[in-house]
Amino acid sequence: MINIAIDGYSACGKSTLAKAIASELDYRFIDTGAMYRAVTLYFIRQGVSLGVADEVAKSLGEIDIDFANVEGRNHTFLNGEDVEDEIRGMAVGQMVSPVAAISAVRRYIVPQQKKMGLKGGVVMDGRDIGTVVFPNAELKIFVTADMDIRVKRRLSELLEQGKQVTEAEVRANLLERDHIDSTRADSPLKQAEDAILLDNSKLSFQEFIDRGIALAKEKLNG
Ligand code: C5P
Repeated sequence: MINIAIDGYSACGKSTLAKAIASELDYRFIDTGAMYRAVTLYFIRQGVSLGVADEVAKSLGEIDIDFANVEGRNHTFLNGEDVEDEIRGMAVGQMVSPVAAISAVRRYIVPQQKKMGLKGGVVMDGRDIGTVVFPNAELKIFVTADMDIRVKRRLSELLEQGKQVTEAEVRANLLERDHIDSTRADSPLKQAEDAILLDNSKLSFQEFIDRGIALAKEKLNG
């Protein structure tokens, strides 16, 4: 069993692709963004000041993040509580990139992710999977899409979930997260040298998924 790393900017369809490949291969899907979102939710609830190292370290020591299947969907649990819905809201979305830029946070999360991949059979999506978490992944895909398309997709996703949000807010959030994620000092978002670029701007949903699954099968069949 191989490991598959899927990276890219926010709202490009990484998780959707990762889920589809995992389901096709009967592999485990891991949404690493959800882990940073869960940490962020805990920091918000505890009122942690991001610039105060002691507060950050103390809170990290109190956090346990897990995933479980709930009615056929992968849900994120923070200290035993299902936080899947809350971590997708704008409050977390607006703070997650500054939290994920803190080295102590990454030192807490990345080893857990590396451990999940020890036996292979994992499809993991994020920002630093091909570069840092699984530098030896057998298949690396870097997903991109035009900004207008990403905004439209994320907006309809949030509206469907009943979240109150405007197009301008979504656009500003994606631009800001891309900027912070790709310019941070620790593990910045970038395409791994051996990653395959998959731009889905002009692909239908099915074409995008089919292309990703074809890449995985080609790799598995040598
Ligand atoms: O994938 P998602 O948009 O849910 O990720 C939320 C945020 O978590 C990203 O904007 C980024 O700041 C952070 N992240 C990260 N490294 C990862 C996955 C996510 O820094 N591997």
